[in-house]
Amino acid sequence: MNEEGTSRPLLKLSTLEMETLTMKSNVFVNRTLNLKRIKYIGLDMDHTLIRYHSGAFEQLSHTVMKEKLIQKKGYPDIIKSLHFNFNQAIRGLVIDRKKGNLLKVNRHSAIRASFHGTQAIDFKTQQKMYKSTYIDLSDNDYMAVDTTFSISLAVLFAQLVDLKESRTDLRFPDFAMIADDVLDALDEGHRDGTIKNIVRDNLKTYILKDEAVVQGLETYKKHGKKIFILTNSDFYYSKLLLDYAINPFLKDHQNWQDLFELVVTFAQKPKFFYGDHRFLKIDPETGLMSNFDFKLIPGIYQGGNAAKFTSDLNLQGDEILYVGDHIYGDILRLKKDCNWRTAMVIEELAQETISDEKAGPLNHEIEQLMEKKEPFENELTQIMTQKIDRGALDESRTNELQKIITDIDGQISQLIKKQQLLYNLHWGQLMRSGNEESYFAYQVERYACVYMPKLQNLLELSPRTYFRAPRRLLPHEMV
Ligand SMILES: [Mg+2]
Repeated sequence: MNEEGTSRPLLKLSTLEMETLTMKSNVFVNRTLNLKRIKYIGLDMDHTLIRYHSGAFEQLSHTVMKEKLIQKKGYPDIIKSLHFNFNQAIRGLVIDRKKGNLLKVNRHSAIRASFHGTQAIDFKTQQKMYKSTYIDLSDNDYMAVDTTFSISLAVLFAQLVDLKESRTDLRFPDFAMIADDVLDALDEGHRDGTIKNIVRDNLKTYILKDEAVVQGLETYKKHGKKIFILTNSDFYYSKLLLDYAINPFLKDHQNWQDLFELVVTFAQKPKFFYGDHRFLKIDPETGLMSNFDFKLIPGIYQGGNAAKFTSDLNLQGDEILYVGDHIYGDILRLKKDCNWRTAMVIEELAQETISDEKAGPLNHEIEQLMEKKEPFENELTQIMTQKIDRGALDESRTNELQKIITDIDGQISQLIKKQQLLYNLHWGQLMRSGNEESYFAYQVERYACVYMPKLQNLLELSPRTYFRAPRRLLPHEMV
């Protein structure tokens, strides 16, 4: 054991070594972040502090949505037979409500892959359908699939589009209404407790316990960091999950209420970051709430807002690091509306980084073939230019070059197919869209100071870590 009370070696590193550390760690840096300067670390609860078995949880949401659609919206009983496939959608997709399509877009919001229902749309059809490749994501026709718990929503929407078209004998609303109905059904499932009640009765099926996270939090606290929870879940559900996943592993604390300086439930993020809701104080014994118009003190609250939180605790915004998993609710609005630092948990990254590693040799081969192709393409360009300049054309050489280039292109496309098999079979990588970043990756890059597959990746590093952003090369600097 070292003086931190853990079996991990104490991290006493020079700045240079720290850079090496961050490069090897699973915390990825967009903007330089000095943990030494961070006094408060805020945690979102669902899918950040408390991890879910995502496949099981999405399956449950899918089932609940189907039931709600039948009961409340009069959808035909046959939708009960739709089976959930977790891999049918990925985070970051965009639903085209009007056309019944799912789209994957890149950082410039250009469409890079599309499905009508669950059927892939070929490139030519896609071009015809969308004319311009670029779409305006602020348009009401588009709906972002931006949380891990909207995978089920995207999948069910796609399945209902299929069903509407294959079963013309049944009555379904238009695609836009289907999208709205599915979203309503999911919201209601969360709001009215249907989903939470099932989770409560089957905690083991849905909730992951992680002892290392609890120990990491205790270590951080020992180093003087104050930890708080900021969640949109209500007090009772929060208590249920924290009792289950935190309490059993505490070593230096009696229960989670001692570990967390403040717990803010039903926070209504992202409004919490820009609104002016009042804080209500919650009595942890009874769950009863009372008005609280004083300076915040340690305890459990409901509602509130970031401005009061920051000033009551005598903090500068950049002394708070907030960790969340929802790009819009946790990260984007926070960055736009208040100056807390941000860390984003992206659980799919764990698998994606493994696949990236496997894809390494394939990518290398692809690059080599591209390089091999370049002189032939240049020669062809030259011959074609001369044809116009001088009216002369070496036809046999032109044919030869075209054949070589086509051959290499064939080899490249085989390798690209092999590479795609390492990722989601329908949609490929989460963070990339061909050569470009995916739109999701672009948002992460823009709004999250650092990002990682899970909270534990941050907590296993020293609370004094200096995360240095890599120097980014602009195209003209790469020459
Ligand atoms: Mg969350």
